[in-house]
Amino acid sequence: MLYPIIGYGHPTLRKVAQPIDKNYPGLDQLIADMYETMYAADGVGLAAPQIDLSIRLVVIGFRPYDEKTETYGSPTEEHTLINPEILEYLGEKQYFNEGCLSIPDIHEDVLRPEGLRLRWYDEKWQLHEEEIHGMFARVAQHEIDHLEGKVFTDRLSSIRKTMLKRRLNDVMSGKVRVHYRMKINKTKK
Ligand code: ZN
Repeated sequence: MLYPIIGYGHPTLRKVAQPIDKNYPGLDQLIADMYETMYAADGVGLAAPQIDLSIRLVVIGFRPYDEKTETYGSPTEEHTLINPEILEYLGEKQYFNEGCLSIPDIHEDVLRPEGLRLRWYDEKWQLHEEEIHGMFARVAQHEIDHLEGKVFTDRLSSIRKTMLKRRLNDVMSGKVRVHYRMKINKTKK
């Protein structure tokens, strides 16, 4: 089942999401539906708050990029993060161009550490504590921000934020054209 994705300005995107346990109802189906929703929207990551569920659940799926051949390989690398926790940041900070399914049409370079030591449960409730790098670490940080009520535009300089203000207002009032279903919060702030 495809979920509608909530847009910038919706209050759920600003909430700190709650941890879940094994008894969370319908979890397997929810995870499957989140992958389906993410791929249908051409995303590489989706956090549960983006489908209006304030819980600490993230799905990630991307094709590995080979810098030597400048091509995307297969198969798709997938990670389900339940109750993820960043234990340590690793490596240098780097800029990477990010976008977000909740903030269509805006892509900006965001500075984040290259790697992480991350603890999480996967969809089988196996506990992981690993050093992660590259694309996985980048997407994980973006999605974990969603669990904390943050979005990537919060991390931009105030000049960039000011420049984007009108376009963010457009997203808030639903003036966006996307090929996936969005739920916009129509109430005035
Ligand atoms: Zn996002």
